[in-house]
Amino acid sequence: MENKTIPLYIDGAFVGSDHQFENINPINGQVLSLISEANQQQVAQAVQAARQAVDGPWSEYSASERAQILRRIADGIEARFEDFVAAEVADTGRPESLARQLDVPRAIANFRTFADIASAFVGESCETKLSDGFLLNYSVRKALGVIAVISPWNLPILLFSWKVAPALAAGNAVVCKPSEETPSSATLLAEVIDAAGLPKGVFNLLHGRGATTGAYLTEHPDIDAVSFTGGSKTGSTIMKTVADGVKEVSFELGGKNAAVVFEDADFDAAVDGVLKSSFYNSGQVCMCSERVYVHRSIFERFVAALKLKTEALRLDVPDAEGVDLGPMVSFAHREKVLGYFRLAVEEGATVVTGGQIPHFGDARDQGAFIQPTIWTGLSDDARCVTEEIFGPCCHIAPFDDEQEVLRRVNDSDYGLDCSVWTSNISRAHRFARKLHVGIVWVNTWYSRDLRTPFGGSKRSGLGREGGVFSLNAYSEISNICVKF
Ligand code: NAD
Repeated sequence: MENKTIPLYIDGAFVGSDHQFENINPINGQVLSLISEANQQQVAQAVQAARQAVDGPWSEYSASERAQILRRIADGIEARFEDFVAAEVADTGRPESLARQLDVPRAIANFRTFADIASAFVGESCETKLSDGFLLNYSVRKALGVIAVISPWNLPILLFSWKVAPALAAGNAVVCKPSEETPSSATLLAEVIDAAGLPKGVFNLLHGRGATTGAYLTEHPDIDAVSFTGGSKTGSTIMKTVADGVKEVSFELGGKNAAVVFEDADFDAAVDGVLKSSFYNSGQVCMCSERVYVHRSIFERFVAALKLKTEALRLDVPDAEGVDLGPMVSFAHREKVLGYFRLAVEEGATVVTGGQIPHFGDARDQGAFIQPTIWTGLSDDARCVTEEIFGPCCHIAPFDDEQEVLRRVNDSDYGLDCSVWTSNISRAHRFARKLHVGIVWVNTWYSRDLRTPFGGSKRSGLGREGGVFSLNAYSEISNICVKF
């Protein structure tokens, strides 16, 4: 059977390209589809279409008219819910339940939330008294223009829509490039958007690799901003690319997040919380905790309890009953994670559990599965404790007091999030405000209210998105001063 080809979407039309590459299913290594790769000329066409749209018809839409379209897009995703689940599952191998409970509902919520926030937004004004009259200052938010949106593979439609929805809500046109690993759900979204009545050219979708299509896009002189989620190294490359043009950037980058379990924590809740924060989506979430610090008085008990629960996790195909973890997104990514598993041993780790490719003795052996893994015994400067691995693994270290663990948690190039487990409310507040991270969770992990600021410090990002912070990220504020 011939493979389906995933098209590009440029200026309101689905088009092919002169070059395709294979989209591989991580469950069995087979070719799922062929991905059209946008060449430099097609990138330029998409940017030009976006420019014409944002300077033309799209600029006439009011915030509430834009919000109406966003709500239609949300309804369109909802109407094709199962198609989106299937696309997400096929590209990533994730459990169907995850796509059903997290990815697709969040994509819908992203469009609805930013429709609400943008249409309810009220600007600011102030009066200044002069000797001969008054000044009225008021601020208006203007769209940035043409935004390049570049997204990763780990939560494909969730993160893609997290950027596209507010960018459109704020009146921009977008030229988007999802990860080459996960092109399918973004392509479905293009179909939904096509049917939702957005003027042509406002949303454009390019597929391709980072070094080709991604670079052509960020190098294009007529983009106004780049909104990027992905690795810190890629973020830094993009920043250099757009530096000469002093383009706006919004970056959500990598992390090496910590979980801290104090001796007074609800023990069972902390074990369950760290199990989730270490292994959710097979550890392929930027917010996952790969560094766990546990108070020495409960360290041995905690390690034993987490080991037991980790070994009970079920690795299986997406539609298997009771499946907890799917494979890595690709065989190449599994190789990278496996490299760290070997390195941990070389660095002197004690492997508490895992550390290998599992052997099932059935069809799952064709997939990119890897065992959830716990280490102890590494020093704070070991590479496995300082570098982002992005797999199902964590290192657990004991600590003795609050100041010490604070210093160790903060001693990182990254600053995305930290989860803190304690029943002492004063300690929770005191500790949380001293952490050099964008997001602190206390007695929970990855709980999200889309109105709150989201982003990282240090190498974990630049800027904040979420709620009105996204509107700020995707617009420019002008002050208008009128004398009367
Ligand atoms: P990646 O940086 O390799 O790729 C991300 C995207 O950038 C892809 O679409 C890729 O094609 C593109 N790209 C790569 N090189 C490029 C270049 N030179 N120019 C333009 N585009 C380029 O990241 P990944 O492996 O897809 O994703 C995993 C990373 O993303 C992890 O580091 C993870 O922590 C991070 N992440 C961060 C957040 C967050 O919110 N902070 C969320 C999810 C993932």
